[in-house]
Amino acid sequence: MTPSAAAWSYALARLAALFALATLGGLVFGNISVWIVATLAGYLALQITYLYRLQRWLRLRRTTDPPDLGGVWGDVVALVIRIYRRKQFHKRRIVQLFREFRRMTTAMPDGVIVLSAERDIMWFNRPAGQLLGLRRKIDFGQRIHNLLRQPDFVRYLEAEDYSSPVILRAPQAPDAFLSVRVVSYGAGQQLLLVRDVTRQIRLEAMRKDFVANASHELRSPLTVISGYLDTMVDDPSLEESWGHPLREMRRQAERMRTLVNDLLELSRLEASDDEAPEDVVDVPGMLALMRREVLALDRHPRKVELDLDSDAQILGSEAELHSVFWNLISNAVKYTPAEGRVSIRWEADGNGARFAVEDSGIGIAAEHLPRITERFYRVDPGRARKTGGSGLGLSIVKHALTRHGGVLEVESEEGQGSTFTCHFPAKRLVRPERRVAAD
Ligand code: ADP
Repeated sequence: MTPSAAAWSYALARLAALFALATLGGLVFGNISVWIVATLAGYLALQITYLYRLQRWLRLRRTTDPPDLGGVWGDVVALVIRIYRRKQFHKRRIVQLFREFRRMTTAMPDGVIVLSAERDIMWFNRPAGQLLGLRRKIDFGQRIHNLLRQPDFVRYLEAEDYSSPVILRAPQAPDAFLSVRVVSYGAGQQLLLVRDVTRQIRLEAMRKDFVANASHELRSPLTVISGYLDTMVDDPSLEESWGHPLREMRRQAERMRTLVNDLLELSRLEASDDEAPEDVVDVPGMLALMRREVLALDRHPRKVELDLDSDAQILGSEAELHSVFWNLISNAVKYTPAEGRVSIRWEADGNGARFAVEDSGIGIAAEHLPRITERFYRVDPGRARKTGGSGLGLSIVKHALTRHGGVLEVESEEGQGSTFTCHFPAKRLVRPERRVAAD
């Protein structure tokens, strides 16, 4: 039997005994109903006293000891004590956890801001306050974009794509840089993580400057070397045995020139985060010219087709678009055998424009596809070297396209050929509506 069942049995037995005694008293002394009513009234008074003591104790629980009531009432007191202890234990744990959380976030070198679903600041740690210049108490409850008004940050919040951080200038120190990232959790709440990335940004800038300067410095001596080599190769007075080494030297100097030019172009593209200018570029005319240039090469695939579905022009940088199209076309030509086919297509509709180069060349195995736009990544380094590639072409394409709001799509099957497609947004098309109607 459980303790509470025993207490109930005892209480009922006591009530029955009282009832029996009252009946007996009534039988012996007469007036049985008075005896029963008086006994029950006494019993009720006792219960009310117990209830009063219990209620008093519950109200003054912190300062008074629990009443010694016994029976069912004692059981209720024991239950209340147990529930209270458990509650106290959980409360202590939560307070302890909260203190630890605060100590931990204060010790963190990165800033943490807790935002409500409406992006009000609910809480922030000390580094967040220092990095963003937030003031305790005053800034609690403020909308984060009212305090951090930089356009890049506002755009980042509105885009709601939080897969990568946004880099901002620190409001407190304009020559410092912060990486700010939103992490969503719970019911629409968000954490804002802030990190000082000044050192990384400076190192990155130094690296880019170094590459740009080194490439620039290499350009002049290379031009001189190439010039002399050109003259020497064509010089009939030189001995025949010099012919081969000189031609090879000229080929290698040419490779170096391509590499230096590509490095400079990539550095220039990387130096600017701005969108490309909006000059009107006659893409169909440019592509027709490129096809003629390909056909004029010593070695090119037998079929080089140009399919101009649209006469749409693009708003962008002529030099950058030339670089995008020429890199993709010359890759298709380089990696397609002479008996193969390269087809170039230009089309546009209401969704934007597409430039595609399809070839029946060597193709690219699936495992290389995610990496081919990385700098100096080559599927077959030996072959790429022989074809004179710098390994920077596709990086240049990707950067230049991004500056035009475009994206590069690559489909390829090893041994079957590849298709490189550049997608341009409709806003970069000149008079897209007219052309849709014409299409
Ligand atoms: P590269 O100057 O070496 O051609 P890119 O950046 O232009 O450098 O291209 C990177 C690599 O991608 C190339 O080395 C080559 O392996 C592969 N690639 C690019 N275009 C093609 C293509 N049309 N067909 C097959 N492979 C290609």
